[in-house]
Amino acid sequence: MSDRLPGFSTLAVHAGAQPDPTTGARATPIYQTTSFVFNDADHAASLFGLQAFGNIYTRIGNPTNAVLEERVAALEGGTAALAVASGHAAQVVVLQQLLQPGDEFIAARKLYGGSINQFTHAFKSFGWNVVWADPDDIESFERAVTPRTKAIFIESIANPGGSITDIEAISTVARKAGVPLIVDNTLASPYLIRPIDHGADIVVHSLTKFLGGHGNSLGGIIVDAGTFDWSTGGKYPMLSEPRPEYHGIRLQETFGNFAFAIACRVLGLRDLGPALSPFNAFMILTGIETLPLRMQRHCDNAKAVAEFLAGHPAVASVSYAGLPSDKYNQLARKYAPKGAGAVFTFSLKGGYDAGVSLVSKLQLFSHLANVGDTRSLVIHPASTTHSQLDDAAKVRSGAGPDVVRLSIGIEDKEDLIADLEQALGA
Ligand SMILES: *Cc1c(COP(=O)(O)O)cnc(C)c1O
Repeated sequence: MSDRLPGFSTLAVHAGAQPDPTTGARATPIYQTTSFVFNDADHAASLFGLQAFGNIYTRIGNPTNAVLEERVAALEGGTAALAVASGHAAQVVVLQQLLQPGDEFIAARKLYGGSINQFTHAFKSFGWNVVWADPDDIESFERAVTPRTKAIFIESIANPGGSITDIEAISTVARKAGVPLIVDNTLASPYLIRPIDHGADIVVHSLTKFLGGHGNSLGGIIVDAGTFDWSTGGKYPMLSEPRPEYHGIRLQETFGNFAFAIACRVLGLRDLGPALSPFNAFMILTGIETLPLRMQRHCDNAKAVAEFLAGHPAVASVSYAGLPSDKYNQLARKYAPKGAGAVFTFSLKGGYDAGVSLVSKLQLFSHLANVGDTRSLVIHPASTTHSQLDDAAKVRSGAGPDVVRLSIGIEDKEDLIADLEQALGA
């Protein structure tokens, strides 16, 4: 055996998977079962008391999901991961371990529209208060820190405009404040950016997007970097204090550098219940095998389309960090040298009406609310994903009325450009 550490593409195909020990099946089987038989009473008791690792019930863990968890943890460079039913479920489970009612977390204002909704409304009803900061103004994060701040949440490549966040700068703020940095890495995928290498303590994903990659399965995942000390100052009681339901064990003390992933599983997933179906885990695992190939094609196509749009007379501006003229190009070169992602926006000289007309004339692009599909997608955020925001907030989050968002697929780029050309010219 060579002592070389496997590269990213090898991990994407192999990490976490072995031939099935009973059947020899090479693809990871779908363990479509709710429950698992115990060896005997002692074994059952030790599993329930967290004294042994093993399968109990699919809400808490499943062998197909375990392969997915190990694979994404390897790709992100984390210590452990937990798969859940959706990206939104991942966000709820993460913050449930960190915040008590009345606590605060700081979030970048440029976020997926659904996250802005979730943070503003649903989390408020849990007593978790979001404080917004501007990812283009690092000091706005520093100014937002209070004694009740428990976490900072950002996107590596931010929806909808594809802007690049200075993860290292914000991680410095988080360190100084003594709180973990959570990075939503959905739009980059670990192929483009590995936030843990830049100081993230927790990474979350909507697996629904580039990791699954085919627009057919919802999923979410939480990756524990193993970098945060949860024991300090009683700030994170879910991790540092004795757990009554597990005979008084302290998760940080017992599980060390993967205690956060354990807390998400044995407190979050167990009690809130957003389990990922093993069938979806299988679909997403299959998608991940081709992540490096797809992601490179997504980025190369996106750059070609952005260049075409930037030169078109009907286009007012293109917001794609992969263009040398873009405001975020410097950050893109630093954080995402292989490509600046495949989700970006542009605005039309004809404003709102021109945007709506373009969307209706496109034929190869599908008009729908998703990103990270093999297929190219288009949407008008101001009237859909970001419609709940007032006009000023729409502009601040990069979803002004004249803005159209594209998610570029893996088709032939010439066909994508031809479709845009006919729709813009017609
Ligand atoms: C889609 C998305 C989410 C939410 O994920 P779901 O799987 O739809 O729940 C969160 N963050 C980003 C950046 C997304 O694109």
